[in-house]
Amino acid sequence: MPVRPSGPGPEPEEPEDLDLVLEDRLRRFATIWSRAIFPVTATSLTRPEFELHLLPWARELSDALHGRPFDTAPAGRVGAALVAAHCTDPDALSRTLGVVESYLVLYCGRPAQDTAEELRARSARLQHALAAGFARALRQRTLTEQEAIARSALAARSLAEEALHATEARFRAVFDGAAVGIGIADLDGTILEVNDTLTRMFGGLETHIRGRRTTDWVHPEDGPQVWRMYGELVRGERDHYRVEKPYYRGDGTVLWTNLTVSLLRDADGRPQYQLALMEDTTERRLLNLRLRYEATHDALTGLPNRTLFFERLDKVLAAGGGTRFALCYLDLDGFKAINDSLGHSAGDRLLVEVADRLQSCAARSGEMVARLGGDEFVALTTGPASDEDEAGELARRILHVLSTPISLDGRELAVRGSIGVVEGPAGGERSAAEVLRSADITMYRAKSAGGNRFERADAEADARAITRHGLTTALPAALDRGEFFIEYQPLVHLGDGTVHGAEALVRWCHPQHGVLGPDRFIPLAEHTGLIVPLGRWVLQEAVRQARFWNRSHSDGGPLRINVNLSPTQLHHPGLVADTVDVLERSGLDPGALCLEVTESALIGADEDLLKPLRQLAEMGVDIALDDFGTGYSNLANLRRLPVSVLKLDRSFTQGMQTHPVDPVDLKIVEGIVSLAHSLQLAVTVEGVETGAQAEQLRELGCDTAQGWYYARPGAPDRIHSLVLADAI
Ligand code: C2E
Ligand code: CA
Ligand code: CA
Repeated sequence: MPVRPSGPGPEPEEPEDLDLVLEDRLRRFATIWSRAIFPVTATSLTRPEFELHLLPWARELSDALHGRPFDTAPAGRVGAALVAAHCTDPDALSRTLGVVESYLVLYCGRPAQDTAEELRARSARLQHALAAGFARALRQRTLTEQEAIARSALAARSLAEEALHATEARFRAVFDGAAVGIGIADLDGTILEVNDTLTRMFGGLETHIRGRRTTDWVHPEDGPQVWRMYGELVRGERDHYRVEKPYYRGDGTVLWTNLTVSLLRDADGRPQYQLALMEDTTERRLLNLRLRYEATHDALTGLPNRTLFFERLDKVLAAGGGTRFALCYLDLDGFKAINDSLGHSAGDRLLVEVADRLQSCAARSGEMVARLGGDEFVALTTGPASDEDEAGELARRILHVLSTPISLDGRELAVRGSIGVVEGPAGGERSAAEVLRSADITMYRAKSAGGNRFERADAEADARAITRHGLTTALPAALDRGEFFIEYQPLVHLGDGTVHGAEALVRWCHPQHGVLGPDRFIPLAEHTGLIVPLGRWVLQEAVRQARFWNRSHSDGGPLRINVNLSPTQLHHPGLVADTVDVLERSGLDPGALCLEVTESALIGADEDLLKPLRQLAEMGVDIALDDFGTGYSNLANLRRLPVSVLKLDRSFTQGMQTHPVDPVDLKIVEGIVSLAHSLQLAVTVEGVETGAQAEQLRELGCDTAQGWYYARPGAPDRIHSLVLADAI
């Protein structure tokens, strides 16, 4: 079977052929790579020799692509190797990354082994590691070079000093052959001599340099210390200094150098000449600028990215002095749908167009547009405090430029966005991260109000959302850490005032916020599904507690325990099995357990939803309809439900506090009680706060009651004392 000559294609069956093909592909990858970077590499090798040089690194990348476990370290080593091989031109790195991006998976991927998705992700991570290895090695090399320069500066200085007095010839040799630029000037700054390297650095013409004065080379970007130290040196007050300094070349271009200047004294120690050593750092600087640019800009749109935006916002916030800032946080509405239906490349083009339009909205000085990622952008504007509504203006401008449809592949797409606006004085307390979070939260408010609009930040809404968000994320760990506990509130027989049982009410002892009531976190736990494990824990704890009470107080009939069930728990398939399990493990009689289900959760419930409750009721567990009277359920419907207790909502009890008590209220309660009793349901009332209420409710025929008049919810041992008090 002939070996397939080139490129990717279906995998051949024979293993030895496979090896050959893979080797062939690897070589082709190395060829492409060498073609890309050879022109920008300072090497004495020929191109084919250079390619052989790259081959082992190509192999490292290829092996890394398939490594198990996956490891990016080899790519970092390849980056460092490039620097060692003098591929330090700014283009060498970006071309290498381009080649890896386009060809590594194509030529070295083994689709039979990994999915395309996986290979692409790995290739991206290898590129990051390679770039990081490259940057690290370059920095290291720069440091080493700087050390070498410092050493040669010292050597040259002592040689030059000697030369002044004696060994002229040896100094000449160093001077002419040095790889760094060397120049000598007198103390007035007149340049006396320069070596070839320095001449070349300045563009090759000695006339541009000789006869000029060092002080002619002032550059607007000179640091303030440059000329101060120069003055000190020529006055004999210092022996040398090192700075980074730019120069204009003869043709107007800029040369950046690391400059070391030393003072040469005569045999009597009097200052005589100045000796400059300079190293050309222009390219390295460009590379650094470019790496910095790449690190601070979004590759797709060219806009500043999150990093640069944060730097700018930090500066703005620190500024103070009467300036104000306004920030618009934009998230496109429905972008995911566009991406999913038209494809990523169309999505990308849309983002580029949006970026262009946004830039036209905030193009004045002091304004900035950045892309934070995905379809999220920010526009920032700053300026002196004024009466005008700058923030609102900016947001309106943005919505306006978005309102013209974007044409993509012959379609006209309407783009809309939601904007969160935050504004305020600079120099406030808030950090950049806080401002951005507030803008993000506000944006969500705009989105949930229907989108295509802007909303302004509101400190109170923020605080609520932040705590809500914080509590939600802290919930799961809180359960693991045992931060929840249960308080018990006694249920009392209205007839004789004896304790009938207790309702379990959960609390969260939050490490920062202190004890939180269930209203603060039960809805969040419902929302995230954590209510299922939390509810199971409450049931287990409460049942265990009831069992304990009943063991230690067998006289006077068993104490009953009421546990609340949330709607999500009702829907959970494990409800019956979990409850049976908890009861069996503890040994508590099912008849001593009452599960409270809020009325609204059962309105309109179908048989499927009722079935688990029915099963539990058949086992002897009581089901109470909690908060009764708030959900407008059809009273006739009660008959259908597997319920044995009605818990009248607190609002009825509150109605009994007025003087005189509203006769209609009384009639309603009386009606409910008699209906309940005719359906064999017991009636419990909640929120009894006074003796008068208790008396009233007893007269109306309610069976049991609960409320502060008897006891507030508390620790389980308090029930003991109440029960004991009953017994006496
Ligand atoms: P709920 O089931 O209606 O519980 C009664 C609430 O009324 C409790 O509030 C209780 O402290 C309060 N209360 C008792 N007596 C009086 C009184 O005389 N006057 C007044 N003004 N209030 C009284 P809490 O503990 O804040 O519980 C609030 C709600 O949280 C409960 O309402 C219940 O729906 C839910 N909840 C509590 N624990 C759990 C639990 O373990 N699981 C689930 N799913 N929900 C729970
Ligand atoms: Ca309840
Ligand atoms: Ca209730």
